[in-house]
Amino acid sequence: MKNAYDLVVIGAGPAGLVAAKTAAENGLSVAVLERKDAVHEILRMCGQMIVSLSGKYMGERVVHNEQAGLLCFPHNGFTLKYDGPTKDFYAWNIYSPNEEKIVFGDYETNKSKGKAGRASAVYDKSWLLRSLVEECKHLGVEVFTGENVLDVRKEGEFVDVQTTRGKHFKGVYALAADGRQSRVARVMGINKQRNFYGSVTSVGYEMTNLNLPEPYALHQPLMESGDPPMLGFVVPRAWDYHGEDVWLVMVTNVDPEADHEALLDNLTEKSKFSSWFKGGRKVRRCGCAGNMYSPILHPFKDNVLFAGDAGWCQEAEMTGAAMCGARVGSAVVEAMLEGNYTEEGVRSYLDWWKEYHISRLDHNVFLKNLYMPILCNDGEIDYIFSKIQDVLPTVLDPYEVPENMGRAMLKIIPAIQQEKPALLQKLSGFNELPAETVLRNTIRAGFNCSFST
Ligand SMILES: Cc1cc2nc3c(=O)[nH]c(=O)nc-3n(C[C@H](O)[C@H](O)[C@H](O)COP(=O)(O)OP(=O)(O)OC[C@H]3O[C@@H](n4cnc5c(N)ncnc54)[C@H](O)[C@@H]3O)c2cc1C
Repeated sequence: MKNAYDLVVIGAGPAGLVAAKTAAENGLSVAVLERKDAVHEILRMCGQMIVSLSGKYMGERVVHNEQAGLLCFPHNGFTLKYDGPTKDFYAWNIYSPNEEKIVFGDYETNKSKGKAGRASAVYDKSWLLRSLVEECKHLGVEVFTGENVLDVRKEGEFVDVQTTRGKHFKGVYALAADGRQSRVARVMGINKQRNFYGSVTSVGYEMTNLNLPEPYALHQPLMESGDPPMLGFVVPRAWDYHGEDVWLVMVTNVDPEADHEALLDNLTEKSKFSSWFKGGRKVRRCGCAGNMYSPILHPFKDNVLFAGDAGWCQEAEMTGAAMCGARVGSAVVEAMLEGNYTEEGVRSYLDWWKEYHISRLDHNVFLKNLYMPILCNDGEIDYIFSKIQDVLPTVLDPYEVPENMGRAMLKIIPAIQQEKPALLQKLSGFNELPAETVLRNTIRAGFNCSFST
């Protein structure tokens, strides 16, 4: 352990490790502090889909070069070593409570086209993180596992990062890449400036032997009469378990006090979708919880930068987090080369964040993904889903989906006007309603932790 590093990274997820790698490639001294004992152990549930191979996300279209074992970010000009398994999937189906279906990509047509028709692919996140750690260590990054960061303060010319073991790490800059429930954002008082929209909990299992209508697709069943609503989620895993395909099966809802295990049992044993899971075998349990805040508008305070989920509204996705990491790593390198160890020194990152996160990706658009199940009853959702017959574009970008849904809704307006004018009036009001109003119950039910210590 050095007396002081150029960069101390808090959190060894994709954002933190890519930042560490980028800084170390350019000769900086870097420490990574991770609270888990093994970086590659995935404790927090993740769909592990690559967002996005079939469309753009944050201005980037990711390329998977299988031959070279690389995930490439051509617009951002960096690559990640990835020679692990992948599995293509071809469509995304969202089901109403009565099994009406909105389809993003026609499964059979897309599947017949092979790679050219895929919605995207799933990858092995554990494999990716292991590779990144190896690369970082090879470049001289000091990776400290089992170090849970407790506090971060500017002291003189350095940022002092303190862990629960009482260790102190000093850096010219520190990077908060500690994920969705960022303690750094909380202790530095950053969350006080953010709007709170609720707490999201997901529980599930990795399962084999499922009987899915389309095995290599993402399925999202909306469950009956949930208040607040509950969404199922089934997606293939990249790897096999003793030669059998594996899927992640989970339920997500915004009531932290709900009996999530019972909700999962309901999906797999009692719901209209239960036939998918008959005979299914549970391989591994997983889950996660996290708060939804508005994004951090200015990801810098006292020489601490914020990247990835730590600064975002819901999830930046692995690809978004990696882009943040690459950008923040480069910005710190620039600051060190110029000898300008201030906010100005890392201006290129702050400008990029403003353009790609704040200006281009309005978090209110993302939150609109939650509106319909909250504002409409089961019958209304069944009706709307039954009317949308078009196959929508096969994209995974959570900011593009509401746009595509909006276009599909425009087409069915004449039919709704004729058949259910009251519903049309309700739907027309959607765009006018602020998130704070629509999500008022999820906000009340959630555990806001915007206080600092
Ligand atoms: C249910 C679900 C499904 C998802 N599906 C997908 C998907 O299909 N595709 C996709 O790309 N993304 C998906 N995501 C999102 C993806 O997991 C994240 O966006 C991504 O991992 C963010 O990377 P990050 O580096 O910012 O944070 P994380 O990956 O969360 O990494 C943060 C790291 O910081 C560590 N840490 C936290 N606190 C401390 C502390 N105090 N001290 C030290 N270390 C700390 C954590 O242990 C962790 O290792 C999903 C997320 C969820 C919840």
